Amino acid sequence: MKITFLGGTDSVGRSAILVESENTKLVLDYGVALNHIPGFPAHVSPRDIDGIILTHAHLDHTGAAPYFYVSKRTPLYLSTLTLEYTDLLLKDFLRLSGYYLPYETIEVENMVSSAKIIEPGMEFEVGDLTVKFLNSGHIPGSIQVVLEDGGGSRLLYTGDINDIDTRLLSGADLNYGKLDAAIMEATYAGEEHPERSKLEKEFVAEVYSILDDNGRVLIPAFSVGRAHEVICILSAYNFDYPVYVDGMAVKAGEILLKYSSKLRDGGLFRRAWGMVDWPSGWRDRKNLLKKPCVIVSPAGMLKGGLAVFYMERLMGKPENGIFLVSYQIPGTPGDILLKTGKFIVRGKAKQVKARVKHFDFSSHAGHSGLVKIIEKIGVDAQIFLMHGEPAKMAKLQSLTEERGYRCIRAELLKTYEIG
Ligand SMILES: [Zn+2]
Ligand SMILES: [Zn+2]
Repeated sequence: MKITFLGGTDSVGRSAILVESENTKLVLDYGVALNHIPGFPAHVSPRDIDGIILTHAHLDHTGAAPYFYVSKRTPLYLSTLTLEYTDLLLKDFLRLSGYYLPYETIEVENMVSSAKIIEPGMEFEVGDLTVKFLNSGHIPGSIQVVLEDGGGSRLLYTGDINDIDTRLLSGADLNYGKLDAAIMEATYAGEEHPERSKLEKEFVAEVYSILDDNGRVLIPAFSVGRAHEVICILSAYNFDYPVYVDGMAVKAGEILLKYSSKLRDGGLFRRAWGMVDWPSGWRDRKNLLKKPCVIVSPAGMLKGGLAVFYMERLMGKPENGIFLVSYQIPGTPGDILLKTGKFIVRGKAKQVKARVKHFDFSSHAGHSGLVKIIEKIGVDAQIFLMHGEPAKMAKLQSLTEERGYRCIRAELLKTYEIG
């Protein structure tokens, strides 16, 4: 087997890998870099490819995939939830950034109709490759891939991975068996997350402290995954103030409700969904702010969406709370808010008087989680790190090398021989 990294080797964005066996070529993820102008992975001719595997719906793994459906119907292998969420996110991406994209809605539709649904735990064959999907614990529908060629060489690609249980998902399945090589994400190499149950308690207590003082809490959250993790946490603590979900998180929640049996605790999500409400229009949105409540709405980094509408209304009063619940990419409005306490309204930086807090409810393994995954991969496998910052990945590399693991940073466009 040969692998070539087409993108995503030195940052989070445009993850894409080409895998070649004796007679089969597969692409694992084909994402974009989410800059002002989207960045694409290296080119592969759709004619040369036997199939595409998407590990999960995030655009840094899927945003360029419709490109393969301009002229050809390449088989697409993914889970039901990844299919539904990819469709939702790609169509939204087209609405926002269509001008920069080399495809249109018709290509997204061709892609969706080329899907072959494979759920975590299932195995299938493409040419001389046997492929197995394993739960990755990252977002609903996310998987890792294990590929085995005719000669018995085995390769793991983790996609984005979380080793711990969250409210929505069980931690990643780390039962890999013997591996010859592994490609793993390293977003949080060198960094630990706070202990989850302690973080949840602190979060719920902070939300109550704002509401009990007659304030409102805005939780900007990504519509797939995080928004629903947040409402599950509140529901698990029998939260008793009104909670509203808005924007695309409503549609994404309806999808999750349809597939709640695929979650770690479907009952908890159904209870949480029963507890929340969503505004049906602008009048509702203005009215719900009259009483203490929680609003969970995208965009998670305040880059747009209805979160900005609520932000502009809530930021001026010290009794309100703005609680960020995910990593904030440097330079995004959420990041600027955390660093300067300011938010830009119609071109003007304004001081935010509401209480601003950050809660690290990550869906990626922290440093010790990555080390645990490396231990499961084993000393015999060549490990390639990607999807992280070079300095952080170098740290993980040297720490694990000391312990005998064969860990290197993947290089862009370099082809490696496996097995
Ligand atoms: Zn992801
Ligand atoms: Zn990613």
